Amino acid sequence: MFAATVREVNPDRDLIVAIDIGGSRLSAGLMTLRGDLIDRTQVPVDQGLNDGELFESLVGIVDDMLLRADEHHQMNPLAIGVGCVGPITADVETVSPVNVEAWRNFPLRERLEEAVSLPVYGGLDATSLALAEGWLGAAQGRSNFLAVVVSGSIAGGVVIDGQLLEGGSGNAGHIGHVVVEPNGRRCGCGARGCLDAEASGRAIEVITGRPPTEPSYEIMQRTGELVGRAVASVCNLLDLDLAVVGGPVALGFGATFFNAAQAALDRHSRAEYTRGARITPARLGDRGPLIGAGAVGMRGLRRQGLRAVPPRPSLTPTGELDVLDGLLELERRVDAGEDGASSVANTTADGGAHLPAEGDHTPSGPRDRPPSTSSDADTGAHGSPGTHVTDDSGHPGV
Ligand SMILES: [Zn+2]
Repeated sequence: MFAATVREVNPDRDLIVAIDIGGSRLSAGLMTLRGDLIDRTQVPVDQGLNDGELFESLVGIVDDMLLRADEHHQMNPLAIGVGCVGPITADVETVSPVNVEAWRNFPLRERLEEAVSLPVYGGLDATSLALAEGWLGAAQGRSNFLAVVVSGSIAGGVVIDGQLLEGGSGNAGHIGHVVVEPNGRRCGCGARGCLDAEASGRAIEVITGRPPTEPSYEIMQRTGELVGRAVASVCNLLDLDLAVVGGPVALGFGATFFNAAQAALDRHSRAEYTRGARITPARLGDRGPLIGAGAVGMRGLRRQGLRAVPPRPSLTPTGELDVLDGLLELERRVDAGEDGASSVANTTADGGAHLPAEGDHTPSGPRDRPPSTSSDADTGAHGSPGTHVTDDSGHPGV
């Protein structure tokens, strides 16, 4: 239905329309293929609206961005990327954002594609943030980390060996349901004592009777302590030493939250491989969710392009983070007149056409491979240890 392929991509002209769906507001922005957020707008979620009316308010801000892209920026939208509070189904085919009662199994992808005639790709807010922070933020250059969003609800995304984990139902990394208080409060999932039931913005409101924007010192400290406790469990389980934490509750609580979280992490990560693990604030701040949504759009476009361009597409056995700059990398090769399929197939470490796909867990990430493999030679800086962003044509270096 949609003709956009990698061959058509021009980083100087094309952009992604990013949409962030939170519990209290809908945001839209324009993101260049280098990750610059050049325009943005938002509208509050009006809980009095029905599903169609709420969708119309979303389309209103998206149309506004499309108009700005054309008239103000003279840029060409390629796709829409959506980051959404869960639960969702794959690629936001349906969304049921936890605090947005009007949307229950709302067919967002189909409705958006109908309304704006662009391909729509989507993911959870926290996995989107993981992509953004790994690409341009606090986890830049890291192959293994956890991203956590502490907002009205709590969610997370895990990157291991450069791969963003998706899991059987697309919910891998959902730290909100890690138990932090045995026999604690009842969670929306039905269990007791989940992090989401104890430390999310909603939980704080229930516990204190006040919105999380009016916290006491004790509640900021307790929230940090509980998040740190859950992060420690995840780090111990998955051999991680970095957690990037964003979301308005965590960032709003600031140093009190982060100091308490770090202290709890220090207490509970004592194994040799996790000792010294760090919790750090999301560096992209309030731009993170839209940049993450834009990154999801780029990833989707990349996958679409891979299907459309080479018959047996492949990159190096890269993770999701490399896919973002891989979009530009492949485009350069196509521009240079190389045969897309054969040149790309040559970049695999094992010499065969090999598309990293769901369920394909390459045991070692691209940055863990020896630096002298042919794939590194073929891709130049693309496979350099510790280098995620290899676009030398104007990366913003946020
Ligand atoms: Zn739960």
